[in-house]
Amino acid sequence: MIITDTHTHLYSEEFDQDRDLMIQRAIKAGVSRFFIPAIDSATTQAMYTLEKSYPENIFLMAGLHPTYVKDDFEVQLAHVEKQLSERKFYAVGEIGIDLYWDKTHLPQQQTAFRTQIQLAKQYQLPIVIHCREAFDEVFAILEEEKGPDLFGIFHCFTGTHEQALQAISYNMKLGIGGVVTFKNGKIDQFLDQIAIEHIVLETDAPYLAPVPYRGKRNESSYLSNIVEKLATIYQLSEEEIAAVTTENSKVIFGI
Ligand SMILES: [Zn+2]
Repeated sequence: MIITDTHTHLYSEEFDQDRDLMIQRAIKAGVSRFFIPAIDSATTQAMYTLEKSYPENIFLMAGLHPTYVKDDFEVQLAHVEKQLSERKFYAVGEIGIDLYWDKTHLPQQQTAFRTQIQLAKQYQLPIVIHCREAFDEVFAILEEEKGPDLFGIFHCFTGTHEQALQAISYNMKLGIGGVVTFKNGKIDQFLDQIAIEHIVLETDAPYLAPVPYRGKRNESSYLSNIVEKLATIYQLSEEEIAAVTTENSKVIFGI
């Protein structure tokens, strides 16, 4: 069984004490493909180090996370652009809009999102979207940018059924993780009406651990709990869930 974690921050300092053991646990649980979203230039070196240790398993993205769009965002975007010009990445992410932490930089977040979508198109890469309390703002930009060259993943999708269909209409797959196991997570109530071809799996480790680990540090091996939950929702075997969602991730990332 090959399970693909399409969104995991394995370079996070939360894993500094036991990173290798944690990655071995994941591989043992069948989670052997890790797609690694960037935050800002401060995380670049740790990502490259990680890739060097696990070249078969680790696939990197380049991007500027919306929460880290500050007054120096143009310097950060130049860093992303330089990275993309220098070597292979598998996506531009994570990018988008986050109005939960800070609304004051909304115009800059919108500019950074648009600019990075342009970069993704230039390099024919998918985008990985981070959207928190900002569905209207994110959809407005996707509406401007939509087309055959726009595709990717709506990471940690937590919207309504209607918003799910709208995201899919922009060639986005829905990134499903720990929230689907939460009692009040809501998405489990309509997911069976979304074809599994539109779903990819993610942990967002070290955040958003699934039940029964909710509130604790998350890690990629816990993706098995998501697979189990989706097998119940879709009435498929865990092997089928793993196979189809891994295939979906290959369609998006090209690997
Ligand atoms: Zn993330």
